[in-house]
Amino acid sequence: SGGGHDAKNLRVKLVLLGDSGVGKSCIVLRFVRGQFDPTSKVTVGASFLSQTIALQDSTTVKFEIWDTAGQERYASLAPLYYRGAAVAVVVYDITSPESFNKAQYWVKELQKHGSSDIVMALVGNKADLNEQRKVPVQDGIDYAEKNGMFFIETSAKTADNINELFECHAISDVVSVL
Ligand code: GDP
Ligand code: MG
Repeated sequence: SGGGHDAKNLRVKLVLLGDSGVGKSCIVLRFVRGQFDPTSKVTVGASFLSQTIALQDSTTVKFEIWDTAGQERYASLAPLYYRGAAVAVVVYDITSPESFNKAQYWVKELQKHGSSDIVMALVGNKADLNEQRKVPVQDGIDYAEKNGMFFIETSAKTADNINELFECHAISDVVSVL
């Protein structure tokens, strides 16, 4: 692409998947509005938000974010959201082994039914609750590595690693080929 100085406006469709209560909506709210609302409401069905970030070389990336509900009764709707997504962010709660199991279910579902070039990130959220941790960080690292996923632990509460998640290498890889 020449000297690399051309301004580009890119769009990235991103979907968040994971058990109800792991903090998906709080992650999105933190990224888009810079806020944490401890009284945030349960997502019904799915919700849509977008956020544009500027990269160094005058490229902008508009994230079109689909935040899904996570409850069993909406599981059959998930393909509507992950189909055509460039990035899938699978979230679990580091204090909940059940949510880590559920994350693995979503990874398998994406491997079976998602597009073959989808970029997947595994996110252990609620890293601020380290004293209540029940999922060792190494378990997340190992699972992500085995499945070719980017891995990061975040806290929507403290904002730790939230921008890093959206600006991560995996997402940069997607952006570079658009
Ligand atoms: P979702 O169902 O995955 O969208 O989860 P929500 O975003 O609605 O969050 C579920 C609950 O977890 C809420 O009570 C949040 O306040 C709380 N929560 C979300 N993220 C964090 C976090 O990083 N740390 C802590 N301590 N609580 C969080
Ligand atoms: Mg939600």
